[in-house]
Amino acid sequence: MTPKEVLDYAKKNNVQIIDVKFTDLFGTWQHFSITPHQLTEETFEEGLGFDGSSIRGFQSINESDMLLVPDPKTAFLDPFTQVPTLSLICNIKDPITGESYAKDPRHIAQKAESYVKKVADISYWGPECEFFVFDDVRYGTGSNFSHYSVDSIEGAWNTGREEDPNLGYKVRHKEGYFPVPPTDTLQDLRSEMVLTMEQIGIRCEVHHHEVATAGQCEIDMRFDTLTKMADNVMKYKYVVKNTAVKYGKTATFMPKPLFQDNGSGMHVHQSLWKAGKNLFYQKGGYGDISEMARHYIGGLIHHAPALLAFIAPTTNSYRRLVPGYEAPINLMYSKRNRSACVRIPMYSKSEKSKRIEFRTPDPSSNPYIVFAALLMAGLDGVERKLEPPAPLDKDLYELTDREKKKIRQMPGSLDQALAALEKDHDFLLKGGVFTKELIETWIHEKTKKEVDAIRLRPHPHEFFLYFDI
Ligand code: GLU
Ligand code: MG
Ligand code: MG
Repeated sequence: MTPKEVLDYAKKNNVQIIDVKFTDLFGTWQHFSITPHQLTEETFEEGLGFDGSSIRGFQSINESDMLLVPDPKTAFLDPFTQVPTLSLICNIKDPITGESYAKDPRHIAQKAESYVKKVADISYWGPECEFFVFDDVRYGTGSNFSHYSVDSIEGAWNTGREEDPNLGYKVRHKEGYFPVPPTDTLQDLRSEMVLTMEQIGIRCEVHHHEVATAGQCEIDMRFDTLTKMADNVMKYKYVVKNTAVKYGKTATFMPKPLFQDNGSGMHVHQSLWKAGKNLFYQKGGYGDISEMARHYIGGLIHHAPALLAFIAPTTNSYRRLVPGYEAPINLMYSKRNRSACVRIPMYSKSEKSKRIEFRTPDPSSNPYIVFAALLMAGLDGVERKLEPPAPLDKDLYELTDREKKKIRQMPGSLDQALAALEKDHDFLLKGGVFTKELIETWIHEKTKKEVDAIRLRPHPHEFFLYFDI
């Protein structure tokens, strides 16, 4: 839509409120609302003022004024508000210099999309966001968290998960993938999420229950271009959370909410295209991928420790990245194998669907920053012709100690990932896509407000281990 078309669309739909949104550095959608007469064609040039100093990691108090410039192509009617509301996703600008804001994640995504032009016309992105739905204790009903009280977790730990007989179609441990209802209690909820996503312009392909015992779900969107797909991930999370709340439930994208059960990943499928040709496709080689795709994988694997600071950006992310739960821990690639960090899906043999899947990211990340960082790592691999280690098709969780020694492992904690990013980030600065200041802010904020916040607190399990020592 053009600005004029947005204004007409708002009138036609009797819109009473315009909501402007942007994504902060750490991946939360922020918003404020204006009346329709405040939105004119000029607003799409001049922007709307807000206080940038109140957003974590953005501006200091003495230079707090910032502008939100709505992108007319992102207009959609909010499916959850009582009052007819038109939503617009915005870019952030500095009112003094008139420049795009270097810490605006959407701007980083747009710069990455321009940078790809060095080797390709376009990049396509397909994230698979997993999430948990729990009964919401705020609504007073019983919670399926109750199966996971500290007692039963310790019980399971000590006895090898012996449980009472299954009298009520309760999902057995790690068997959520994917018996039909009544075992799967979330069918209609997911269907409603999908229909709502389609209504606001997201093409969906599949939805299903995931492997974890209680309420883990996945909805897959059709692939799209980089910034557009990051916008879609923000809309996806908004729809998932608000639909859950509508039914007295709560949804979380926290990577590992349950001890000893599968966590939630955000596997990212990606490919590069030029003049209508898939640059990752080459019939006949390993997994039918091209030399360029192999170097791209080489870049992802080479920079993976530093990338982790953005793609697995919470202390909880590292409770997911452990053996045995289909989450990758080895810096390897493989066709079909889900225990490698890069998988070449082999469902289809066609050029059209050839892509690589990077399995390490999780949905606690900021999708704009994740896609941009992955692209920069992959392109660095292409430019420098980086070779990944030879592919392995074994179950990587079952390797002997000797075999394991040969494979590089991921950093095992957020502070190690932040240290890796501090050492290795030149590939992100190319073309001015990421700035040094953004990387410094990221490391500082994550260290002080998350790593230290967890490190300095006594952990509940320490009372079990040490209280009576
Ligand atoms: N939940 C797994 C993860 O943490 C992935 C399961 C799957 O292959 O879809 O990455
Ligand atoms: Mg999945
Ligand atoms: Mg997958």
